[in-house]
Amino acid sequence: MSDKKDATKVVEAGRRPEWTQGIVSPPVWRASTVLYDSVADLRAGGGADTHHRLFYGRRGTPTQWSLADALTELEPGAEATLLYPSGVAAVASALLAVLSPGDELLIPDSAYDPTRNLANGMLKRLGIHTTFYDPLIGAGIAALCTERTRAIFMESPGSLTFEVQDVPAIVAVAKERGITTMLDNTWATPLLLPVIGMGVDYSILACTKYVVGHSDVMLGSVTAAQGHYDRLRNATYQLGQTASPDDAWLGSRGLRTMAVRLRQHGEAALRIAMWLKTRPEVARVLHPALPDCPGHALFLRDFKGASGLFSFVLNGGTDAARSALIDGLAHFGIGYSWGGFESLAIPVDPAHYRTATKWRAEGPLVRLQIGLEDPDDLIADLDAGLARFATVRG
Ligand SMILES: *Cc1c(COP(=O)(O)O)cnc(C)c1O
Repeated sequence: MSDKKDATKVVEAGRRPEWTQGIVSPPVWRASTVLYDSVADLRAGGGADTHHRLFYGRRGTPTQWSLADALTELEPGAEATLLYPSGVAAVASALLAVLSPGDELLIPDSAYDPTRNLANGMLKRLGIHTTFYDPLIGAGIAALCTERTRAIFMESPGSLTFEVQDVPAIVAVAKERGITTMLDNTWATPLLLPVIGMGVDYSILACTKYVVGHSDVMLGSVTAAQGHYDRLRNATYQLGQTASPDDAWLGSRGLRTMAVRLRQHGEAALRIAMWLKTRPEVARVLHPALPDCPGHALFLRDFKGASGLFSFVLNGGTDAARSALIDGLAHFGIGYSWGGFESLAIPVDPAHYRTATKWRAEGPLVRLQIGLEDPDDLIADLDAGLARFATVRG
């Protein structure tokens, strides 16, 4: 089982015969009430762990368990996975499972903005102190750890700016001190970076992105390393977090093609990134597989490949010049979520978010999600966009 290749796993995982009953994919099992045969049966049904056992709709049915099991299988060394109604709910549940008042938390300065908002909002109100750190800190994170540090959060590469973190170095520091580690693995997914095997305690996904893959469902997951599931499960049950069977079913449908989609997203994005790199209107391309990207050597060391999201820095120009580029694009939508089949372009301004590091750049930044269209069409579209940018910039 364990030496199966990832592309085989995404096709086969989670399709237990008792859940599929002879068809290919488990159907949508919707439920709130679960009926018991007798009072004695009802009394025997509860308990702390109802994993893979029908108990009450909130605890899931085979539809959710199937996707959760498949995600667990993609992270060698994992114990189990729980699903959430969004990626943000997954991040919040992992943090609330671990942190208590008086604890300290470390979050990279390049983290997804809603993760920062949670730290600066509810976690702060609960008496949890967050220190934001330079995503390139590596083993230097030891200097930020105190006896109150309970969790180190990672996101690699970072949102918007794609710094690659030294995950093994940070995990080593955490393990020495008994600090819990978690990593938002939405960009790479376990197919390109299986982080539980690298010693991370919780691998978090916004399944909304590549797992679903079709821009039509909100879904999140947390996969726990061996020995870390009970704590997550207790918090998740207490918070009442649950993902709908319909959404989980669409997540499973997306997962079956995730390996081929990721390969196509990755190849097309790298080709477009390399083309952008040759353009005089572009100062830098922040794609982890290119040397411009901070942490590029760590990417080469740790990742099995790249996905389809990256940014580029324009050479000079104003916000208006950048808008001229983006507004006229024919094949790129303008929108936030990504990981679907369609290409997207948005303006991003990391300077607005950062507190631990300074963002300096030659010009404004554009983030691209490269979809499954023919990359030739996307390059022609960007070529015309760069011409519009250059006209406004002067
Ligand atoms: C989109 C995203 C999330 C949040 O996922 P939602 O399902 O939109 O709540 C979390 N982390 C990263 C890195 C993301 O890109």
